[in-house]
Amino acid sequence: MNRKDFLKNTGLSLAALGLGTSRLAAQTREATNPYAFINMMQSPLKYSLTGLEPYISGQIMDIHYHKHAAGYLRKLSGYLIDHQIPSDDLYALIRGPIAEDFLVNNLGGHFNHEIFWRSLSPDKSLAVSAAFSDQIKSDFGGVSELANVFGDAAAKVFGSGWAWLCLEPESRKLIVTTTPNQVNPLMQIAETSAYPLVGIDVWEHAYYLQYQNRRADYIQAYGELLDWGFADTMYHKVVQWIG
Ligand code: MN
Repeated sequence: MNRKDFLKNTGLSLAALGLGTSRLAAQTREATNPYAFINMMQSPLKYSLTGLEPYISGQIMDIHYHKHAAGYLRKLSGYLIDHQIPSDDLYALIRGPIAEDFLVNNLGGHFNHEIFWRSLSPDKSLAVSAAFSDQIKSDFGGVSELANVFGDAAAKVFGSGWAWLCLEPESRKLIVTTTPNQVNPLMQIAETSAYPLVGIDVWEHAYYLQYQNRRADYIQAYGELLDWGFADTMYHKVVQWIG
């Protein structure tokens, strides 16, 4: 008998069990944290290393995933152990005050790449829910307009950094924002604090072996791979999360 059936069959109220609504709400929120997939492991890719070709080469993916991204996680792990910081809630960590650049770089580096891998897919599903589509129309005019704003922002990042499609919690609007180096929009130090749905890595290590200085071509290739289904899923999770 599961708990729900148990409650129904015994007629026990939730209050009688000491489960107030706030605790239940907290449990629900815990269960639906949009970033719960980010932990002290690298997520397996949804595609093979060569699965994004010809847009992103297998060589880039191999080095990017197994060297760069793995390096951020390794350094993060070492830092947390050295400082006796629990590693079981990385979301709480990234939302909290982060004083040291080392932690910004490596916690951010890990978070950013975990979102990045999932932002990409070789299956060009463009279908999104009505709610997400309506909000894109309301905030940008349409998907192609959003893609233009996103691409322009990515192109204009000076040096290394990221462009993000986010939900901004105060206005509840979708926004495009950029962050330098490995800053994540969830961090308190982010210039614009918001919940990232998808992101593009514009560090040279993400494209140089294939595109050299042609960042615009890489951004166009990213547009061909952007997993709108993942963006949609994240949108709904974030809307639920911020309540
Ligand atoms: Mn990268």
